[in-house]
Amino acid sequence: MIVVDQNKCVGCRACVDSCPIGAVDLIKITTSGMVSSVAIIDPALCGVCGVCIDRCPAMAVALQQNENENKESKSKLVS
Ligand code: SF4
Ligand code: SF4
Repeated sequence: MIVVDQNKCVGCRACVDSCPIGAVDLIKITTSGMVSSVAIIDPALCGVCGVCIDRCPAMAVALQQNENENKESKSKLVS
């Protein structure tokens, strides 16, 4: 699945504007009393096309394998 590192995200909207299916949105978060916007991806909608990874100027978006995918890859390596 595709994930956003909210510590790196600067809320520029590039991922929101580039996603072809509208799977990304900006939300407001409060950190140490400061309000900022960060991107959040809906995994139920995301088609894992990778466009948002390429467009993010802060390198805040990345492909992260979940536990099941990791197990699957390992079993493929073994077999
Ligand atoms: S990987 Fe593709 S579908 Fe998923 S959020 Fe990014 S641009 Fe949208
Ligand atoms: S493109 Fe990157 S920095 Fe900009 S809102 Fe999306 S995740 Fe955040």
